[in-house]
Amino acid sequence: MSGQRFPIHKALKTCPDENLGFMLLEQLEKVGEEMEELGACMEETDDHGVFINASGLMEEALDVIHAAEGVAYLLERMHPQVRMSDYVNYVIEKNKARGYYDA
Ligand SMILES: [Mg+2]
Repeated sequence: MSGQRFPIHKALKTCPDENLGFMLLEQLEKVGEEMEELGACMEETDDHGVFINASGLMEEALDVIHAAEGVAYLLERMHPQVRMSDYVNYVIEKNKARGYYDA
């Protein structure tokens, strides 16, 4: 798989093909759990609305990315035509068209 930043969790790598659907559901749940942990860090703000737990936010944001990359890995195994690297480019092009990036 190309495009990912983090190593693939061994439980995903060694998952037998017949269990990929179940593993995908579990990994999607993992993304949700990491999102909740990120949300908990976001709630740690001071009276002026400034986030005070920057290192916690960084860690949890990267946990979300790591878990989401696991979803992408499983999807690619289940549907080899759905390649993460192609979709990274697709998402970049989509957002470029929306004017999200510098010219
Ligand atoms: Mg976490």
